Amino acid sequence: MSLSSIPFHLAEIGEEEIQEVTQTLRSGWLTTGARTAQFEREFAEYTGAPNALAVNSCTAGLHLALHALGIGPGDEVITTPLTFCATVNTILHVGAQPVLADVDEFGNLDVETVRARITKRTRAIMPVHFAGAACDMRGIWELAREHGLYVIEDAAHATGTHYLGQHVGGADPQTGMHSDAVAFSFYATKSLATGEGGMVTSHDRALHDRMRVLCLHGISRDAWNRYTEKGKWFYEVIECGYKYNLSDVQSSIGIHQLRKQERFRQRRAEIAARYTELFASVDEIETPGTPDYSRHAWHLYVVRLGAGGGTVDRAAVIDTMRDEGIGTSVHFIPVPTHPYYQRFAWSDPTLVPRAMGLYPRILSLPIYPSLTDDQVTRIANTVISAVRSHRRQLVAATV
Ligand SMILES: *Cc1c(COP(=O)(O)O)cnc(C)c1O
Repeated sequence: MSLSSIPFHLAEIGEEEIQEVTQTLRSGWLTTGARTAQFEREFAEYTGAPNALAVNSCTAGLHLALHALGIGPGDEVITTPLTFCATVNTILHVGAQPVLADVDEFGNLDVETVRARITKRTRAIMPVHFAGAACDMRGIWELAREHGLYVIEDAAHATGTHYLGQHVGGADPQTGMHSDAVAFSFYATKSLATGEGGMVTSHDRALHDRMRVLCLHGISRDAWNRYTEKGKWFYEVIECGYKYNLSDVQSSIGIHQLRKQERFRQRRAEIAARYTELFASVDEIETPGTPDYSRHAWHLYVVRLGAGGGTVDRAAVIDTMRDEGIGTSVHFIPVPTHPYYQRFAWSDPTLVPRAMGLYPRILSLPIYPSLTDDQVTRIANTVISAVRSHRRQLVAATV
């Protein structure tokens, strides 16, 4: 008997999403409209941020925030090497220079290495809540305040992440501190999935309004508001913006995905706990921890192989898992490892030894609400036997 395969990811789409999309299609209004406005209101409420702007990707949200804050050529933005290329690409898109700080034990930006990278040109810090564990935001906010820097969070993994009891995007309940802008992703594999999509939250109404204008070609809302005098045809382009708006078709999915988020997160947390328990006595597998200031969203479950002194051939483990019908992934191939970034001095891998040291050891296992306990057990047992058969003494010469 052959066991069915377990994909690395499966979106959790229900009848509610399907019905809402069908209604939207039947309504004849497909692009940004009432459903997107509703999704923005409900997402703002969920996170505790006063303003939310729906965009067609997290990448678009990060780019809009950088642009709207006036970050550009000559400016430096400090970020993490353990991220998806989108984070550094948006910094390059505005003509600024990424600066890589190293990671802490959770794979998040390490505040002390951020401090060491601040120069006269630094304008912003861009933390990523790796796998769904919140960064040390007080450490980052205090640095930012000390040096007059903006904070733009890449919250692509952080729908469902809490920092000090408050959802990412909200304000620190004790100090009132918050970031300038926070960008979430609703990409197909993310916890809240609309296929493609994102949301950028902020506490500053003027910044929010500027991002909204930039989100749709730089067309002024004031101009729209004037159409009673000028007629419905009238609008004004007040700056050169982008085409980053989210459609009502996608927002129809998002509205229902949002309502299910707490249930989804609860199930992902159960799966994470089950993995951690099954790996507890396995020396070769180090399980992911949760910072005491965070509620983990468990967007990803990333183990580290070769703990306890030995090393493990990760590529061989991934191949064995695939042969057993189980999808896995690696988050992330560090920024300095990619050919494109290697032309830049800022992308020197020796500047980020902890991230580079983690890279050959990390492995992401399936984690999504529809995984059954039996599947989780099967995945864990398969990883354990794969790791034990691919142990070795020497680290691979190349990664
Ligand atoms: C997925 C992801 C993004 C990009 O999100 P999009 O919505 O696809 O633009 C950015 N940063 C990180 C860390 C991600 O995982």
